[in-house]
Amino acid sequence: MSQTIAFIGLGNMGGGMAANLLKNGFAVRAFDLSEEAVAKAAEAGAVRCASAAEAVAGADAVVTMLPAGKHVESVYASEVFGAAKADALLLDCSTIDVATARRVEEAAAAKGFEMVDAPVSGGIAAANGGTLTFMVGGTEQAFGRAKPILSAMGKAVIHAGGAGNGQAAKICNNMLLGATMVATCETFAMAKKLGLDPQTFYDISSVSSGQSWSMTSYCPVPGVGPQSPSDNGYQGGFAVGLMLKDLKLASEAAASVGASVPMGNAAESLYQLLANRGEAGRDFSLMIEMLEGK
Ligand code: NAD
Repeated sequence: MSQTIAFIGLGNMGGGMAANLLKNGFAVRAFDLSEEAVAKAAEAGAVRCASAAEAVAGADAVVTMLPAGKHVESVYASEVFGAAKADALLLDCSTIDVATARRVEEAAAAKGFEMVDAPVSGGIAAANGGTLTFMVGGTEQAFGRAKPILSAMGKAVIHAGGAGNGQAAKICNNMLLGATMVATCETFAMAKKLGLDPQTFYDISSVSSGQSWSMTSYCPVPGVGPQSPSDNGYQGGFAVGLMLKDLKLASEAAASVGASVPMGNAAESLYQLLANRGEAGRDFSLMIEMLEGK
């Protein structure tokens, strides 16, 4: 018999993820505070539920894809723990702070539940296409149970260690991404001022030691490198506001363990400036325009 998954949080990411579970033969019980989001999931074949607790009742596993730690903590405490089957597996795929992830997983364990934190890399297109990468924190046993469910929504499912380590991997990765994008943007801006053609600089640096994913897979200069949001007016892709959220989580986590992250801190301040210019909704490679003084 197919497994039933309660899916809570059917927004930009969760909507596509739930649809992929359905495509892969899982039954889905859907809840979101937005009626519109639930209606969309129902169109894809999910059972409409009137509350998170109703969605969770009888489900073999619970997947949450919520905005932030406070939403995750309150949904688990007030709706999931009291309504889930004793052997239900709990999976939080939201990007949240490491401390909250560990606290919620401890609370789950105290109630006898197995739980993983399983944040994702990849945006809305990857959520819709079922090509996300999941970084998973939790015990070996919980990871083994989570893998077939996550595989229905992603192309890679990697065990990062114990509780909270999925979140730790996610924010470390995104801090690195934020810093390399800023470095790539300021470098192209300087190259141009020094009289280098951006395409020529790309041809040189993309096969030299300055190469990075930010340059060769997501070039911030329109018309250079493979198709990316820069070719589309910096629309779509990974929003400035979400990068800023992840950089804030990274500096919070760094402070909690006394890690020195000057590049991450600098990237955070620069993305804050970009967001303050009213650009929180545009793609994060837009950083180049600010650094070019536009
Ligand atoms: P979103 O705002 O589109 O979706 C969140 C959904 O959660 C909304 O539909 C909202 O109504 C619902 N929600 C909020 N509180 C709720 C509650 N108490 N009960 C039920 N539903 C509730 O956000 P998103 O872009 O889908 O992102 C979700 C998570 O994924 C975030 O943690 C984000 O950081 C992470 N993420 C997003 C992207 C991206 O590109 N959008 C990429 C990677 C990770």
